[in-house]
Amino acid sequence: MLFSKVTGHSALKKKLIANALEGRIAHTQLFAGPEGCGALALAIAYARYLRCENKTAEDSCGTCSSCIKMNKLVHPDVHFTFPAIKEDSKSKGLSAEYITEFREAFLQNPYLSLENWSDWIDAGNKVPSIYADEANEIIRQIGLVAVEEGFKIFIIWLPELMNVQAANRLLKTLEEPSDRTLIVLVSERPQDLLATILSRAQMQKIERYSVEECAQIVHSLSGAAIEKCQKAAEIAEGNASVARWLVENQDESDEQLNLFRSWMLACYTYNISDLISLTDQFHKLGREWQKGFLTYSLFMIRQTMLKNHQATLNRLTDTESAFLDKFARFFHPGNYETITTFVNDALLHIERNGNGKIIFFDASLLISDVFRKEKFARTTA
Ligand SMILES: [Zn+2]
Repeated sequence: MLFSKVTGHSALKKKLIANALEGRIAHTQLFAGPEGCGALALAIAYARYLRCENKTAEDSCGTCSSCIKMNKLVHPDVHFTFPAIKEDSKSKGLSAEYITEFREAFLQNPYLSLENWSDWIDAGNKVPSIYADEANEIIRQIGLVAVEEGFKIFIIWLPELMNVQAANRLLKTLEEPSDRTLIVLVSERPQDLLATILSRAQMQKIERYSVEECAQIVHSLSGAAIEKCQKAAEIAEGNASVARWLVENQDESDEQLNLFRSWMLACYTYNISDLISLTDQFHKLGREWQKGFLTYSLFMIRQTMLKNHQATLNRLTDTESAFLDKFARFFHPGNYETITTFVNDALLHIERNGNGKIIFFDASLLISDVFRKEKFARTTA
């Protein structure tokens, strides 16, 4: 990954390059940004730049022996730590056990999300984590001399998934950084990191992509039509990982719209048997799909408010527009925020690996309740 291959973030790239050229390199850095913002890709481009033998004031050279190794993520002095699972009783859940898969997954999709990664390693219902043994492994590696001259770099992806034991062990290393060692934490939820870790890291904040940037990324990765990518980017609010998933998995037959319509209708009419069957359907389709569907639901709910404010609606299909014509009147400023919060919470719980069945059914009951209270208020008014 060259800096030039990572979309956007030009100010941050300039800052990283300038600091590197001046030799101002903090030992522990935290690249913090939401899912699908390219933080991991940037960290890898940064590692490549620091190791490049012929770097320019703009980027790595791309052709030196170090860059060639970085093309395949096989540089002996650039180490990767990421969440993994313990496949069987013999497995320690070390990153080293999954390094081949990790290289393949990243090279295929530099905007990798935890869900993409879980799917890639067939984690099933297991929650990938960074275990204490992995922290020992990092400490051991830090103690070894670099294979080649220059910085030894440790990229830790999603450190928020370190268990407490691992985090505490690693903390010692962060407190006493060894010379020529750089640790880059790449986090989507820095608020979940130990305060003691946060305080030792220099933060590089990475912003969400704009819809246009996100659409360009998805377009170049998937080859899908730009209009389709723009719509997906809009739904995903700039999250390149979710947008790509939507482009590659959303079929043209309005499947998500139909489900969203059935869901909202069942909530509005408080039809429990429909809600149960929708919950089963939701549950069977897997986490990545659930995330895509809830993201789409949030997008449609946002559109209702725009419609009610007579704003111009963007990128809706004719069927979606027709649906909103009837549906938007059920939403108003008094319930919009509450319902959005319920759907958002459901999305958050899915991302944190909660049980899809319980999450979806709970959210449905909460939304039903909002509509029922309003109907009750209207009939008693
Ligand atoms: Zn180079």
